[in-house]
Amino acid sequence: MSVVTTGVQGRCAHCQRTLLLQPWQLNAIAINEAFACAHCQKHVQLCCPEQFKRFKSLDSFSLLRASLRLMVCTALLVALVMEWLGMLSVIEQLNVSLIAIFVYFAVVRYFRRRQHLTLILEAAKAHAD
Ligand SMILES: [Zn+2]
Repeated sequence: MSVVTTGVQGRCAHCQRTLLLQPWQLNAIAINEAFACAHCQKHVQLCCPEQFKRFKSLDSFSLLRASLRLMVCTALLVALVMEWLGMLSVIEQLNVSLIAIFVYFAVVRYFRRRQHLTLILEAAKAHAD
């Protein structure tokens, strides 16, 4: 699994501080591995199945965003070709393009907000001290 999302935070069980999770830490969570807290260097792990499910769903968001980008590009291209063929006026073509771009940014903003996730990390069992 490739996690390309950002904005996911974790709360350390040892020092109670919040850390912005780096891509390698997100990967560790994805494969259920413990990793060291950036503040106290103690090992933490995501154990809660509910949170793990939410975390996993972030990956499908980024996939959805990629396909949405492709859809918008196609819409812009189709509008441009229709204008060339005389099926749309310049104004209509601009309107279609603006609407497509607006929808894209609105959806991306919505998903970006949902991506702001703070995971409550637990002390790793294998490394607990
Ligand atoms: Zn810590």
